[in-house]
Amino acid sequence: MILKTADSKKDIFYLINKYSRVISRVEAEMLLEFLFNCEKLDLYVRDFIINKTIEELYDMLASRRLNGESVQHITGRAEFMGLDFIVTKDVLIPRPETEILVNEILGAGFIAPKILDLCTGSGNIAVSLAKSMPQAEIIATDISENALKIAEKNAVLHQASAGIKFYKGNLFNALMFAKNPKFDIIVCNPPYIKEAEIPFLQKEVRSEPLIALNGGKDGLDFYRDIAKESRKFLRKGSSILLEMGFGQREAIEDIFLSYNIFSIYRVIRDFSGIERAIWINLL
Ligand code: GLN
Repeated sequence: MILKTADSKKDIFYLINKYSRVISRVEAEMLLEFLFNCEKLDLYVRDFIINKTIEELYDMLASRRLNGESVQHITGRAEFMGLDFIVTKDVLIPRPETEILVNEILGAGFIAPKILDLCTGSGNIAVSLAKSMPQAEIIATDISENALKIAEKNAVLHQASAGIKFYKGNLFNALMFAKNPKFDIIVCNPPYIKEAEIPFLQKEVRSEPLIALNGGKDGLDFYRDIAKESRKFLRKGSSILLEMGFGQREAIEDIFLSYNIFSIYRVIRDFSGIERAIWINLL
């Protein structure tokens, strides 16, 4: 039945509330934004025709969500730093906590820095930095060819391609063919989950790429590699900003401090009060 304008708004609320016991309102809104190809605000101000087909399509999306697929994988989009990113099963879904890394860099007053974004995934960090710092020279790397393709698409989507070069390879190996790979900032949200914990993660998280999650036996493999290799790629006084997992701060500090060339500048907590990012300087 096609409803009259006056009733239509009520019906969008009907859809929003239809799964309210099992899907959060935010997620229901995200599915509807996807279904109607509109912004969240539109859901509340525009008139929508809700017919049987629309409701069935919505039911299909909702049932995928109920089967443990994340909303971002269903819609193919995830928001990061107020920008819309393309996401697929080949990339980690950008998390709000990771915005800390970007905000720290943006707030530090760098002028035209050279930045290396390791494990770029969807390119969320590199692209949002390039958007806000058009003078920055950014290199973004990832071991996954498919992830890099998505990151490049996101750079194009946000008109940030001019400021970012993409290289494929494991951490610093990716820089083999880069010209003068010396940086003012290395930023990385590395895989930091302990291998043994992976089977116990939520189903949604387990459907993300394993290589983007698995930090090895103690979750710290990537921090060890970065501490070991980064010096060659940094200018004196440059910075390393890393995301980290719950309870990892002390071990990460020990890894870096054992080289006697780094100092810990700052540790930043996330919205839940968890130590989430660490800023390390090369002395
Ligand atoms: N840089 C991406 C992010 O922060 C991907 C990180 C990863 O794959 N571990 O979301």
